[in-house]
Amino acid sequence: MTSPADPFWRTTPLSEMTDRQWESLCDGCGQCCLHKLEDSDTGAIAVTEVSCAYLDLETCRCKDYANRSSNVPDCVTLTARNISALHWMPQTCAYRLVAEGKDLNWWHPLISGDPDTVHQAGISVRGKAISETEVGDLEDYVSGWLETHRANLDWREKEPRRRSAAGFRNGKR
Ligand code: SF4
Ligand code: SF4
Repeated sequence: MTSPADPFWRTTPLSEMTDRQWESLCDGCGQCCLHKLEDSDTGAIAVTEVSCAYLDLETCRCKDYANRSSNVPDCVTLTARNISALHWMPQTCAYRLVAEGKDLNWWHPLISGDPDTVHQAGISVRGKAISETEVGDLEDYVSGWLETHRANLDWREKEPRRRSAAGFRNGKR
């Protein structure tokens, strides 16, 4: 049960949020901008420590967010409609949490009031990622600290090819 005093993410469906509310939901973890690999036999998704070249590894924000789709064609635009199907999104992602009817965590800037808490809590990729411009084979960089997700069958039907690069960021709904 919600009350009018509750913050917007508890009272407003993702599809009805203003652009400002939607953008503020991103905690700035940068996890969605890491490359992922899909096992073509099992469908398992492994997250690597390798980031998109456009990810600022200090702020964990996109260096050119406005042009992300043209800069990186497989940078998937997150929407209220597709979030539930994107099972490889991190379990800590605020969009995923809200879509699942869960609350934000203490370290989310909207809760803490401090954009640094996502880094202090060890949720962001700061200090854990390396740019794709610095590495060779992605398979040598499968992450040990991030979870491994099993691919969703619906997603595999839509995206059957082996996925070697992925950025999933918020944008227009
Ligand atoms: S969209 Fe989600 S996973 Fe990506 S940076 Fe924002 S909160 Fe993190
Ligand atoms: S994956 Fe997309 S949002 Fe993330 S850094 Fe790359 S272009 Fe920017």
